[in-house]
Amino acid sequence: MKELKKDTKKRILDLRKLLEHHQYLYHVLDNSEIEDTVYDSLFHELLKLEEEYPEYYDENSPTKRVGGKILDHFEKVKHEVRQWSFDNVFDLNELRDWEERNKNFLQKINIIKNFSYVAELKIDGLKVVLTYKGGELVRAATRGDGEIGEDITENIRTIKSIPLKLKDKVDIIVMGEAWMEKSELEKINKSQEKNNLPKYANTRNLAAGTLRQLDTKIVAKRNLKVFAYDIEIINNKNKNIIFSSSPASESQKNNILILATQIDELKFLKENNFLVNPHFKLCKNLEEIEKMYEAWKEKREDEEYGIDGLVIKINEQDISDALGFTAKSPRAGIAYKFPAEEVSTKVENISIQIGRTGVATPVAELQPVLVYGSRVKRATLHNSDEIERLDLRVGDTVIIRKAGDVIPEIVSVVKELRNKNSKRFVMPEFCPVCNSKLEKEINKLNKSGFSTGLFCKNESCEAKHREYFTYFVAKKAFNIDGMGEKIIDEFYDLGLVKNVLDIFKLKMSDIEGLEGFGEKSAENLINAIEISKNISLHKFIYSLGIRQVGETTAKDIAKKFGSFENFKSAVENISKNRNKVEIEDLKEEFGVVGIGEKSLESLMDYFESDINQKFLKEILKIVKITNPQNIDKGGDKLKKSASLLTNKVFVITGALSKPREDFIEIVENMAGKVASSVSKKTDYLLLGESEDGKISTKERTARELGVKIINEKEFDKLVK
Ligand SMILES: [Zn+2]
Repeated sequence: MKELKKDTKKRILDLRKLLEHHQYLYHVLDNSEIEDTVYDSLFHELLKLEEEYPEYYDENSPTKRVGGKILDHFEKVKHEVRQWSFDNVFDLNELRDWEERNKNFLQKINIIKNFSYVAELKIDGLKVVLTYKGGELVRAATRGDGEIGEDITENIRTIKSIPLKLKDKVDIIVMGEAWMEKSELEKINKSQEKNNLPKYANTRNLAAGTLRQLDTKIVAKRNLKVFAYDIEIINNKNKNIIFSSSPASESQKNNILILATQIDELKFLKENNFLVNPHFKLCKNLEEIEKMYEAWKEKREDEEYGIDGLVIKINEQDISDALGFTAKSPRAGIAYKFPAEEVSTKVENISIQIGRTGVATPVAELQPVLVYGSRVKRATLHNSDEIERLDLRVGDTVIIRKAGDVIPEIVSVVKELRNKNSKRFVMPEFCPVCNSKLEKEINKLNKSGFSTGLFCKNESCEAKHREYFTYFVAKKAFNIDGMGEKIIDEFYDLGLVKNVLDIFKLKMSDIEGLEGFGEKSAENLINAIEISKNISLHKFIYSLGIRQVGETTAKDIAKKFGSFENFKSAVENISKNRNKVEIEDLKEEFGVVGIGEKSLESLMDYFESDINQKFLKEILKIVKITNPQNIDKGGDKLKKSASLLTNKVFVITGALSKPREDFIEIVENMAGKVASSVSKKTDYLLLGESEDGKISTKERTARELGVKIINEKEFDKLVK
């Protein structure tokens, strides 16, 4: 117990030191070495620990201050109006809680009135505070710590999207977000590269660095932009502008400008020549906000500026005023952030997983954490080389990354937080499942090198069998609908299936009543199994799980031999001469273009095994291999299209009937390429439906550059 407490204290101190360091980098030097989301999760961890262990209170903890130290190059200025920042929420439930809290608060102060929301894009840039007196820009400052910022007036004057004189002669403070176009960053990075200088990580960092330039000429060249989004009134002696929803009299109505809502403010800003982001939306309720959030989560990459969420504000000024502030932020607004793609967590253990082929893969068991909207508790480490590259140890704090449907990966280890006593990881000698000795084998890792893989060679290793089940029923093989990994595990554990052939012996009475199975779903599964017995030749070859024989090789084989019998005897024929003839000659005799030595060795190994021969005899009694003729034709077509699409560059955008990955696979199978943005090099833009009926940046660029735009139907024709 005492030991545990000591560890906790150390953790708190280490976190403080680390966060302090990154705050300095971020706020003082405008340079960040870690993603904001990583910083946030470390920050959050410290906050929680401090709450839990008040005995380690420190008034100088990084959690006790909002900003950082100020560089002395720019003059410090005190903000006339304190610059708050909004609290964050990350999902609809948290957003609902926020609404609930506000409604309760209003009820307590006896305000019963309907209100609406304005949702604006949250721009990933830098906050600037612009002060206008009598309609003239007199000062511009950074946010700083909210109370004190830096005077960057001269730099701001060079930003053309900021008006220096307003149409209305008012005393106001305007809040805006400075940002840089992604293409501008690319341009600058290109010249950095040319001059052998380091590249900038992202537009936010470069925009921040630019605003802090002492040479205003450089700022002017860099083409920053500012979206204005909020107003505060100051020194309003003339009373020519007020925030109100109910002006006192008619005469007042005529002479003064009334900003009763956030929409009014945005309108006022637009009328005074500020750049206002056009995508704001008046929303009646949270459901409308959620719709907008989901749409922008998908298409945020299409814009020239970074978007990291939505900012939600109560539209009505009087309601906002009544709600007031918490100690940290205004109650009437909230930042609804997009899911984090990078967060930190801890590695609790490194375990070994045995794959279908027996390969031993180390897997990091993580303290569960939410990344990109899904709970992640494991990340593959590929092989021992990867562990060495990362220098990963059990107990380490790591940064993990996940975006979209991509498998989560460990990006790096936060070495500053490493436990002194941690030990290097060593791969085990024995299979964790069957306890056979793991054997070394050089396997090709990637284009750049080889890696020594460890394999469990025990034919009857249970781990291998389970993995093979998943492989066998997958889409590319027998494609048995409704038979996922969980169900296989359940069947396996119940002893219903020991061998994949047992799948075909399953009866209604075996399944009905099992967890998750009613009459209907049991019937569906039995039907799916029945249907799967008719299988095309290449899928059948793939389903055998022969090492080095993936989908493409299976197709090549199917195309060449036309039937399983022909294929089998071809392998058995060359196998007879295996020890007498050079592998190169065997390859030639086998006659399948594109088959490598390793695949051929694996094929021979497979058919030489008595166990496999017995298995084939059994399964061929059950399944019916279909349409070898059609595959042959399909193969020819494939070849024809392949030559048509070789090296053609596709960009894919919008809502399509299948996941994006499916289209990428089709293009890449035909030797085409898929790029993420439209350029002169793009040959086709595959354009799905627009989510909001508007033209996307990709489409606009494609039109400007004359890139051929095709829809899904045209795409299907192209690849058929
Ligand atoms: Zn094993």
